[in-house]
Amino acid sequence: MAHRVAIVGAGPSGFYAADGLLRGDPDIGIDIIDRLPTPFGLVRAGVAPDHQGTKAVTRQFDRLLAHPNVRFCGNVEVGRDIGWETLREVYDAVVVATGRVIDRRLGVPGDDLPHVWGSWRFVAWLNGHPDFRAGPDLSAVKRVAVIGNGNVAIDVARVLAKSADEMAKSDIDPQAGAAIAAAPIEAIDVIGRRGPADASFTNNELAEMGRLSRAVALVDAASLDGAAVPAGDPTPEKLRKTKNLDILRGFAANRAGSKPVALRFLFNTAPQRIEKGTYDLVVTCIGYGGADYPKVKGVFAVGWARRGPSGTIPTNRADSHAVAQQVLSWLEDRAPKGGIDPLPPSTDAEGWRRIDKAETAAGAALGRPRVKLTDWPSLLKVAEG
Ligand SMILES: Cc1cc2nc3c(=O)[nH]c(=O)nc-3n(C[C@H](O)[C@H](O)[C@H](O)COP(=O)(O)OP(=O)(O)OC[C@H]3O[C@@H](n4cnc5c(N)ncnc54)[C@H](O)[C@@H]3O)c2cc1C
Repeated sequence: MAHRVAIVGAGPSGFYAADGLLRGDPDIGIDIIDRLPTPFGLVRAGVAPDHQGTKAVTRQFDRLLAHPNVRFCGNVEVGRDIGWETLREVYDAVVVATGRVIDRRLGVPGDDLPHVWGSWRFVAWLNGHPDFRAGPDLSAVKRVAVIGNGNVAIDVARVLAKSADEMAKSDIDPQAGAAIAAAPIEAIDVIGRRGPADASFTNNELAEMGRLSRAVALVDAASLDGAAVPAGDPTPEKLRKTKNLDILRGFAANRAGSKPVALRFLFNTAPQRIEKGTYDLVVTCIGYGGADYPKVKGVFAVGWARRGPSGTIPTNRADSHAVAQQVLSWLEDRAPKGGIDPLPPSTDAEGWRRIDKAETAAGAALGRPRVKLTDWPSLLKVAEG
């Protein structure tokens, strides 16, 4: 009899954990459980809809779903539909891959005003997540503040700045795309509390801001004066920061007014309060928190659930493979429990394939990669076939 492992969360870290487990023990049985009827976590619901190349990693994960020892169990929320304790009793090990996507609050007066959106709520809306169907009212939005200096801030600013043509090959939710295209946006400020050398943008993402058709990237040259990369930084960071400063110097030479939207980078600027009227929309991109899980024997965490909300999709691979080794060592001394299947009825891989097929067919009709099903009843109906 083979060991059975429950992986809770079908995001990248969950799939990489499954991959690591199967590499070490090809006979192991794996249930990948997710609260959504669709797999892939933030690759589907977080990664920007115009960065389809990044989303292509799901092809690897789809191959794992086709593995005979892997079962996808969607539409099962652990903590609601089944307890952690039950999983621990029945499975030989439990891997927590639930991520961490509760928006952090800015912590200043006014951060709860209706025009202030956390980045998760915002990107989940434009990525068609079924729990986030109501988006912001953009019909009178002229000025936008995007608070944060990481790639999520860049994603949010870019998707708001791009023209409908530039988004045409994306899988943005059509209603969100139409609302953004119709918004009278004139200015987008990307606001960082630290200096330009401390921004955590990656070079390619920052450089792309200089190539948008309807938005001109701007920086006040004075804000770059004296900006320098700290001598002690390790080489890759030094290179990244130096290149970022070069890109920003290029933006400083751009002419305001040369394109309809001013996309301005502001540094050393920490909002003290948010008031109605300064900006029509504020999107905070300042990190995430998340629900906890039982830290007991036989339960192993991976990905953002383990490390907190940092690291890219590839970061999760090495991390999950290392944890998979720990799981395999734990299993080595234990006889398989061989208990009953504890899970309630769920959406299986076939159900996901039906959703995938319906979405890609709807997309093909419009020349897009997919048009997502965005409400629970449709997702479940299509999954059932
Ligand atoms: C807005 C945004 C944009 C990003 N863009 C990029 C990018 O362009 N490139 C890049 O490399 N990285 C990007 N990242 C980072 C990347 O998405 C993460 O590194 C990665 O998704 C973390 O994987 P994970 O498996 O730990 O968590 P997630 O991807 O969050 O997966 C967690 C899964 O667990 C499920 N789940 C949660 N709770 C439960 C429960 N109780 N029961 C059952 N299931 C549950 C969720 O539904 C979800 O499917 C981005 C992140 C964000 C937030």
